[in-house]
Amino acid sequence: MKLISACLLGIKCAWDGQDNYKSDKAIELLNSETLIPVCPEQLGGLKTPRAPQEIQGGTGEDILDGKCKVLNIDGEDVTQKFITGAEETLKIVRLFHIEEFIGKSKSPSCGCWQIYDGTFSRKLIDGDGVTTALLKRNGISVITEEDL
Ligand code: SF4
Repeated sequence: MKLISACLLGIKCAWDGQDNYKSDKAIELLNSETLIPVCPEQLGGLKTPRAPQEIQGGTGEDILDGKCKVLNIDGEDVTQKFITGAEETLKIVRLFHIEEFIGKSKSPSCGCWQIYDGTFSRKLIDGDGVTTALLKRNGISVITEEDL
């Protein structure tokens, strides 16, 4: 059993009210795996659709350490919602004894190894999203759809 970003399975939970279904690979995994879909941003209380959001001046690790913020493109501070969403996701991981998360690449929540840099210009920096950072801290292995 694995956890997966719900938007990768065609669930319309992304900021723009759309999904991130880009290939059949995640769906094909369902033939051999039980996948639990989660959207940390919705679990944190953010609505759909919502303004795009990016971590400002840091990474998911820095958010967990209180060193920077997540702002949406209108300047609203959504840091606590991102942290709540990560914590709720961790609860699901523990309930189902999950050991791996397949996250949506580049997302400020679910991204792994690279995320957007906070300028809303599609530039990338090295680092994890907030949920990915919390899961990694708790021993969960994380990959993205690009690794499938
Ligand atoms: S928070 Fe994760 S699951 Fe939700 S839309 Fe963003 S990338 Fe997809």
